[in-house]
Amino acid sequence: MEIAGILTYQDFKKIISHNIISLEDMRDRIVESNGKFKTYLKSDTERIIKQNQSIKFIEYIDSTGVINFVAPYYPNREVLNLDIKSVGYRYQSWIENSKDTLVNITSWVNLTQHGKAFLVDVPIYYNSSFQGTISAGMDFKSQFDNISSKQNLFSVLIKDDVGNIFYSYNNPKTEDFKTDQIFTQRINPIVGRTVGDWKFEFMFYSNQELRATTLQNYILALGIFLSFLIGLLAYFFLLAKRQSHRYKLMNQKLQMLNEEIEKERRRAEDASVAKTQFLSNMSHEIRTPLSAILSISEILEGKQLSTSEKEFLKLMQNSSRILLNLVNNILHIDKIESGTVELSKEVFSPFITLQRIVDIYAPTAKIKGIEVKTNFASIINPKNVLGDVSRTEQIFTNLISNATKFTEEGSIEVFYEEKLQNGRLKINLKVADSGIGIDPSKIDAIFERFKQLDFGITKKHQGSGLGLAITKTLVELMGGKIGVQSKEGEGSTFTVSLDFHKVKNRGENKKLRQYRNLSHLNVLIVDDNLLNQKILAKILSKNQISPDLSSDGDDALLKCASRHYDLIFMDVHMPGKDGFEIVQHLRKIDNTSVILGFSADVTKEAIERGIKAGMNDYLTKPVEQETLFNIMNKYFS
Ligand code: ADP
Repeated sequence: MEIAGILTYQDFKKIISHNIISLEDMRDRIVESNGKFKTYLKSDTERIIKQNQSIKFIEYIDSTGVINFVAPYYPNREVLNLDIKSVGYRYQSWIENSKDTLVNITSWVNLTQHGKAFLVDVPIYYNSSFQGTISAGMDFKSQFDNISSKQNLFSVLIKDDVGNIFYSYNNPKTEDFKTDQIFTQRINPIVGRTVGDWKFEFMFYSNQELRATTLQNYILALGIFLSFLIGLLAYFFLLAKRQSHRYKLMNQKLQMLNEEIEKERRRAEDASVAKTQFLSNMSHEIRTPLSAILSISEILEGKQLSTSEKEFLKLMQNSSRILLNLVNNILHIDKIESGTVELSKEVFSPFITLQRIVDIYAPTAKIKGIEVKTNFASIINPKNVLGDVSRTEQIFTNLISNATKFTEEGSIEVFYEEKLQNGRLKINLKVADSGIGIDPSKIDAIFERFKQLDFGITKKHQGSGLGLAITKTLVELMGGKIGVQSKEGEGSTFTVSLDFHKVKNRGENKKLRQYRNLSHLNVLIVDDNLLNQKILAKILSKNQISPDLSSDGDDALLKCASRHYDLIFMDVHMPGKDGFEIVQHLRKIDNTSVILGFSADVTKEAIERGIKAGMNDYLTKPVEQETLFNIMNKYFS
C-alpha cells in the first residue's frame, strides 16, 4: 500500500506542477516581450487549456483588478469585465497574491461562474510596474482520476490548506482505518513558495481489502516460511544422504577390516593348534626315549653296581630328570598361557608330598655340601585335603630345586605348618636358603617367564626361567599367595600360603611300599616300542605279574578276542591303528577290563580323547614306580 501511495502521490505532484509551469511559461513570454505577447493571449490560453486538463479557465486581470480576458469564453463570459473589487474575499487575496512576481494559489473556492476551483494567480511585472495577473481556475479531478483508476484497490482523499476536501476517489473511509493504516503525505502545490500544504491520504478501498491483503501477506509469509523449511529439510536430507553414504563406506571398510581380523584370528588359531600339535608330538618324541632312560636307571638302581657305576647312574638319573622337568615346564607354560589349565581334585596330604620332594632334593644338596634342615615338629598327624596333587608338587619342587640350585654353601631350611580353619586347611611353606640371593630391584622380574638373572655366556646355573612364572600362576590359580625376601649374597626366603578343602584322614597316607601279589591278573601291554614294553613288564614283575605283550593294534585285538584281560596298558601313538581306535573296538567287546592309556603325549586334548574312547585312566610316560604302584592299588586293592 505504501509503495502504491508513494507512486500516486508523486504522479499527482507532477500533474500539479506541470499545470502551474504552463501558466508560468505564458507569464514569461508576456514579460519577456514587454507585453507584446498579450496579442496571442487567446490562442496561447486555448493551447494551454487543451494541453493541461486541470486548467478549467484562464483570465487576464489587469492592474486595476478588472478581468479583461477569459478563455474559454462561453462558459465564463459572465466574468468578463468583472471588477473583482466587487468580490471582496477574492480581491483581498488577489491584492495579496500580486505583491511579488511569485505564483500563488488560493484554497478550494466557489467560483462566480459556479462550481469550485483553485485560483492560481501569476503576477506580471514588466516596464518596472505591475501589469496584472494571469489567473487560472484549476480542478485536478480528471487528471487525478486517470491515475487513481489504475489503483482500484485503494482510495484517495486530498484536502486543501484549510481542510476542504477537493478530491476523493473510491469513496475513502478514513474512519475505518487506524492512523498507521493510512499513507499520509503533505503536498506543497507551488514549488519554492510557502503556501499552506495540502493533505494527501491514501488507504485501502475497504477494511476487507486490508484484511484480505493482510491475509495474503500472512499466506505469503507462511509460503516463504514453508519454502524456507522445505529448503532446510532438503538441505538436511542431502546432508544426511551424504553422511549415510560416508557411513556406508566406513561400514564397508569396517567389514573388510573385520574379515581381515577374522582371517588373522583363524590363522592365529590354526597356528596355535599347530603349535599344540607340535608340542604334543615333541613331548611324545622326547618323553618316550627319556622315559626309557629313567626307567632303565630305576631298574639298574636295584642291581649290584660298583661305586663309580652308581655315581654314573645317579648322574644319568639327574640329567634325565632335569630334561624331563624342562619338557614338562614348556608344556605347562603352554597350557597356562592358553588358559586350559584345570585343577584336578584328588585326596592327598600336602605335608607328605612336601616330605617326598625334600627327600628327592636333599641328596643332591648334600653332594654340594649343603644341609637341608626341616622344621616339621608341629606336624604330628598330617592332614588330608582335596586338591591338585601334581600342581602342589610342582610348586614345592620349584622352590626347593631353586634353593638347591642357587646355594653353593651353608644350608637350606624348610619350614612347614598347617592350620585348620573353618573346615579348611591352611598351609604355610617357607624355603630359606643361604645362596646367591637376588638384587632387590630385580625381585619382581624373577616371576616373569623366561626371566633369569644369570644369563648369557657367563650363565652358571641351569634352567629355563619358567619355574617361578609357573609357580606364581599355579599358586594364584589355587587362591594362594607367594612372596620372596632376599639380599644379594646372603640368601633368599620364598614363602607360599595355600588353602585347601580339608577331608577326613583314612590312614592311607602311610606309604604302603609293599608290593602285593597280583599274579592272578591277566595283563596285556600294547606298545610299539619294545624297550617300553620291557620296562613296564619289569616294574609289573614286582607284583608278580607276567604280562602278555603286543606291538600293534591288530595283534592286540586278536589277543583280546581269545582271552579276557583284567588290565590293559595301551600306548596311544602307534603305526596302523592308534590306541584310541583300539580302545573303542575293545569297549564294544568287553566293558570290564581296566584300560590305562599310556603315552608320552600329555596334552589335555590327548587325555580327554583317551577317556572319551573308553580308557579308565591315563598315565604319562615315563611312568614312575610310585605312580604305577598307586594305580595298581587303586584298581586292584
Ligand atoms: P630357572 O630356575 O629355571 O632359571 P625360575 O623361574 O625358577 O627359572 O627362576 C627365575 C630366576 O630367579 C632364576 O634364574 C634366578 O636368577 C632367580 N632365582 C630363583 N630362585 C632363586 C633363589 N633361591 N636364589 C637366588 N635366585 C633365585
